[in-house]
Amino acid sequence: MIPFLDLKAQYAGLKREIATAIEGVLDSGQFALGPEVAAFEQAFADFCGVRHAVAVNSGTSALHLALLAAGVVPGDEVITVAFTFVATVAAIEYAGAHPVLVDVDPRDLTIDTAAVEAAITPRTRAIVPVHLHGQPADMGTLRDIARRHGLILIEDAAQAHGAEWQGQRVGSLGDMGCFSFYPGKNLGAYGEGGMVVTGDDALAHGLRLLRDWGSERKYEHVIKGYNYRMDAMQGAILRVKLGHLEAWNAARRENAARYARAFAGSQVRYPEATAGTLHAWHVYAIRTPHRARWMTALQGAGIGTAIHYPTPVHLVPAYRTPRYAPGAFPAAEQAACEVLSLPIYPELSEAQIDEVARNVLALARADEAGR
Ligand SMILES: *Cc1c(COP(=O)(O)O)cnc(C)c1O
Repeated sequence: MIPFLDLKAQYAGLKREIATAIEGVLDSGQFALGPEVAAFEQAFADFCGVRHAVAVNSGTSALHLALLAAGVVPGDEVITVAFTFVATVAAIEYAGAHPVLVDVDPRDLTIDTAAVEAAITPRTRAIVPVHLHGQPADMGTLRDIARRHGLILIEDAAQAHGAEWQGQRVGSLGDMGCFSFYPGKNLGAYGEGGMVVTGDDALAHGLRLLRDWGSERKYEHVIKGYNYRMDAMQGAILRVKLGHLEAWNAARRENAARYARAFAGSQVRYPEATAGTLHAWHVYAIRTPHRARWMTALQGAGIGTAIHYPTPVHLVPAYRTPRYAPGAFPAAEQAACEVLSLPIYPELSEAQIDEVARNVLALARADEAGR
């Protein structure tokens, strides 16, 4: 059996370090923010190559606060993609703004920059590109668009810890970068967590106020804020795990390269990193029009797969609006029908990768023969 994801395999190698970190927090008697979270913030800021990191309780909270810190107010428009996890769009709505959706580039499934340019109106305030599956978006073009139109650029880097664009880590490329530490992400908490990183002192100050009831000192609320604080326990755990992230990402890249060697020259449509980027390989999604059949067959062979995501946000019932009918975003809609995520987690063995690849190749060959 090769599961789609195996968090227990990773924990097995970390038990002692994690136990020590947790014990330290229990002994300290300090459970929300505090020195453990501050130490993790500093380590994560250094990792991203930015001045500030502000820890929060989820990736969704990170996006929400980044939008508020950017000065997004009700009635503003914020441009993002139709092909993402619903949290990206939900956070824009939490801020009271209108999500203006655009299609993705069919080649790498990140935001279509020409569509961004076309979607800008006088009410546009910010752009939120998503580094989907760990593939950095076209940040050069996006930074140019943001500069020319005076827009704030907020990276949704929830799937891309450690990914790079032109040698720079994601999170450091826009005005702010938002990360999730949901357990299954490349850097996952043993619970929930998130982070906003920024090089801007004033934005960092605003984010710190917003995440903790608008106060720097207890009961002095200078603005209205939220309880979006990170747990000390998660901070301590995440700092331990951050020390392993580069090795884990390297293992993901090796796994992706091994799949690519197996699939090269076959009918399998497999993903490759866009030139000039270092992919974080949070998700390794091949594409097939026969997805349901392939999933069932792989399941039968003891191989777990997943779909990221089966429905583009504009067609998710809870997020549907008359503004975006089916057909509005063809690349996103086609991707949603075809993507199939294979196991890519760092602890997979070469033999396991080979077994997955062998089964996928057999399905592709059978389809080809049956045509
Ligand atoms: C996981 C994720 C989020 C939300 O993060 P949470 O920590 O689950 O709140 C936002 N955007 C994307 C693209 C994600 O994958």
